[in-house]
Amino acid sequence: GRTFPRPSKTRVITVANQKGGVGKTTTTVNLAAGLAMSGLNVLVIDNDPQGNASTALGIEHRAGTPSVYEVLVEDELLVNTMQECPHIENLWGVPATIDLSGSEIELVSLVSRETRLRKAIDRFIADREAAGESQMDYVLIDCPPSLGLLTVNAFVGGREVFIPIQCEYYALEGLSQLLKTIDLIRSHLNPDLRVSSILLTMYDGRTNLAQQVAGEVRSHFPAETFRTTIPRSVRISEAPSYGQTVMTYDATSTGALAYLEAARELAERGQGSSSPRRPAQMQE
Ligand code: ADP
Ligand code: MG
Repeated sequence: GRTFPRPSKTRVITVANQKGGVGKTTTTVNLAAGLAMSGLNVLVIDNDPQGNASTALGIEHRAGTPSVYEVLVEDELLVNTMQECPHIENLWGVPATIDLSGSEIELVSLVSRETRLRKAIDRFIADREAAGESQMDYVLIDCPPSLGLLTVNAFVGGREVFIPIQCEYYALEGLSQLLKTIDLIRSHLNPDLRVSSILLTMYDGRTNLAQQVAGEVRSHFPAETFRTTIPRSVRISEAPSYGQTVMTYDATSTGALAYLEAARELAERGQGSSSPRRPAQMQE
């Protein structure tokens, strides 16, 4: 079968954009599925109280299920919360339950409230190393549509930021704020953090608007923007209601093939090294 290059150490990637509905969750689960189906070990951490990634991965996330909430708030080990995904080998998920919706407030009063996910991930990797177990190749963290403490934990937990951008009006609006937040995290909490990847989602190349937005994103972020774009596809949006990613729901659909290609690009680009400069003329 297909195989993608295996990274020399676990790549921890935070999928973020404080706008809702731009394709964060869809991108997280489908990239994860594409990487896993290509022979890599992948863990998805659902760090959004909405639990949409858990739904798409087909993992249990009813109230009371051990989840990222227990990891963040009760110091539970990540390994005790992860579940195997039913449809895809080598793919695991840490679910988000309704409990997570209160955590932004609960975290405020906890010690080291910004670094709790980072500590859990570092411990997880160290424990596997010590036990001589095979390492996760990728850990992908899905974020809520905000820049609150859950997203801060995800930025401190990750080494790379992956930004999905929807090709619509105001696509770049809010991006300056996102990049400023990432700069702050880098200077205070996580010096290694880097924006490595930008993916254009829900792209309809027949419209001038989508072409314009894509052109603008590529000119601001030539090194980070993936060649692959993700088309708008009904199959992509249907898959979660079957508890699946589009990669198993309809593996030969244009959407599945595009996400597989994006996963290949992610794997073949490696960790990258640049951080995008924030262009002065970019709109706030
Ligand atoms: P976010 O996590 O950023 O809020 P989602 O991944 O949940 O965004 O996507 C928002 C909505 O758009 C969902 O209903 C999802 O199924 C749909 N969607 C995402 N990507 C596509 C696509 N390429 N084609 C069609 N629908 C999509
Ligand atoms: Mg989401």
